[in-house]
This record gives sequence, C-alpha cells and structure tokens, in this order.
Amino acid sequence: MEKKFRLLVHGGAGTILKSSMTPQLEKDYRSGLELALAAGYQILEKGGSSLLAVEASVKVLEDNPLFNAGKGAVFTHDKKHELDASIMDGKTLKAGAVAGVTNIKNPVNLAMKILRESDYVMLCGEGAEKFAAQHGVKQVESSYYFTDFRYQQLLQIIDTDKFQLDHNVKLTKVGEDNKKFGTVGAVALDMDGNLAAATSTGGLTNKRFGRIGDSPIIGAGTYANNATCAVSCTGQGETFIRNVVAYDISCLMEYKGLNLAEACRFVVNKLNQQDPECGGLIAIDKSGEICFEFNTPGMYRGLILENGISETFIYS
Ligand code: ASP
Repeated sequence: MEKKFRLLVHGGAGTILKSSMTPQLEKDYRSGLELALAAGYQILEKGGSSLLAVEASVKVLEDNPLFNAGKGAVFTHDKKHELDASIMDGKTLKAGAVAGVTNIKNPVNLAMKILRESDYVMLCGEGAEKFAAQHGVKQVESSYYFTDFRYQQLLQIIDTDKFQLDHNVKLTKVGEDNKKFGTVGAVALDMDGNLAAATSTGGLTNKRFGRIGDSPIIGAGTYANNATCAVSCTGQGETFIRNVVAYDISCLMEYKGLNLAEACRFVVNKLNQQDPECGGLIAIDKSGEICFEFNTPGMYRGLILENGISETFIYS
C-alpha cells in the first residue's frame, strides 16, 4: 500500500476581495503556492522528513515577493524590515525560532539552524544575526526585501498610529477591525509518520517598538507534536498569542480526545467571538487528516497528497 505523506501551505488569511484580484494576480498567487508545494513534495516523495519539507516550502514562499515574508516583507514604522520565523519537529519536539531579524535572506533557514545546531529555541535581533553569521546562514542587505507595493502601504499610514495587516485593504489599530494577513507557513506528514510545522512573516506594516507577532512563538503561531498534529497560523498576532492557538488545538486532541477538525473548529470559533475575521490556520494530524480553518473570507492555501495531486484555494 502507498505510504501516506502530505503537505499543506498557506500564504496568509484575510479579506481577499475578488474586486481587487485580477486574473493575472490570482494566477501568480496560485503558482507561488504550487511552487512551494512542489518543493516540499520533492523531499517527501523520496522519503525525506516533514521537517525538511516544511523548511523547503516556506523558503520558496519567502523568496516570492507576493507574500509578506522574506523578500516582499512589510515595512516597519522606521522604514525597515523585521522578520520573524519558527519551525518545529513533531518527532522530537525540538524547535527553532527567530524574531526581529533584519538581514537574513531566509529566516526559516535560520530557525532551522537554531533547532539543529544550538541548545536554544528562540534568538532575536543582533544576537540571532551573529549566530547566523557564525553558522553560514545567508545574509542580505536590507534593500533585498524592498518592494514598491509594501513601501506604498507604509506611506499610506506612516503618519498615523495605525497598523496595517498586509495586502492593503483597511487600515487598522491593533484590536480594531482588520483585514489582511500575508504570513506564510507549511505543515507536513512524512512517510515515517512524523509531523512538522513552520511559519515566517514580516509582521505588520508600520509596526513599532520591536513588536513581535505570533509567528515565531512556539505554541501560538506554530506547533508540531507527533502525538497530535502540526499547525501553522496566520492573522492578528496578538489574538493568536493570547489564545496560544496552535498549542490549544494540540491540547484539545491530546487531553480531550477531539479529532483534528473538531479541535480546529473549536479554537477558531473561540477566536471569532473575541476578534472576528482575525485569521486562520492550516493543520495536519498523525493519520494524515488535514484542516484549513479561518474566520476571514479567504486564505491563500494549498495541499499536495502522496499521489502528487495538488490543489490551491483562495476564497472560502
Ligand atoms: N501573524 C502575523 C503577525 O501578527 C501577521 C500575519 O499573519 O500576516 O505578525
């Protein structure tokens, strides 16, 4: 019998208005997701680990300027880029995370180095960059991340105290109605039954004071445990941190015996009561069940199964 292995990716959740989506842009988003799925699939089909697969998929999305991670990341209030990422291995519960890095080409690769080659879980800022230099992780000039689209997004709100959650629809303050998220992530199950998850983001346009979201926080934006599931989130980071979303899903499965779909729905319903349209997540469990759950009108997402058949979706 064919061994089960599969991979899910996301490129952020939000109000992806059909009216502002051109056929070309939709094609570009979908092909970006397809390329990410293919990169992870290539590893999984040869019997490679889910950990390597999620790293590879997230790297492809970081390299794509359409998504708010790596190249194309949003601008901070100081016209800089501060990137966050994390990765977790469900087999060992080892994890690596970086926050607020400014010159790393692929933050997910640095998170992986931390997981593999340090005794730490999370490094931030200059220290993380020093670790990267010592471990041969590729560094870039800050101009590498620049895209005019993101710069224009910043200029629209730089003189206000508003934050903007990617993709340029509504301007928001934290806690107010907000509509777009462009973080990227992947979750996978490999042939050996191991789960892994990874997430990467530029955070929020116009963010200040070293603000860090949920994406690099193990248990909030990313979690993986072979006993339960692997989860990667996107959305209003503060809400996801407060609710420890990814770990909460795992806990409902572990302690309460819920299945993956029930656990994801329960948690997103809970979020919805606190913060409507706050985001979404992708998840997979040890038996290969998959789940896309979000309370926004859309989420860039896709999946690929062991037979090589892939699908991508944008709207709900
Ligand atoms: N969760 C990310 C953050 O709050 C944003 C996003 O998903 O786009 O930093």
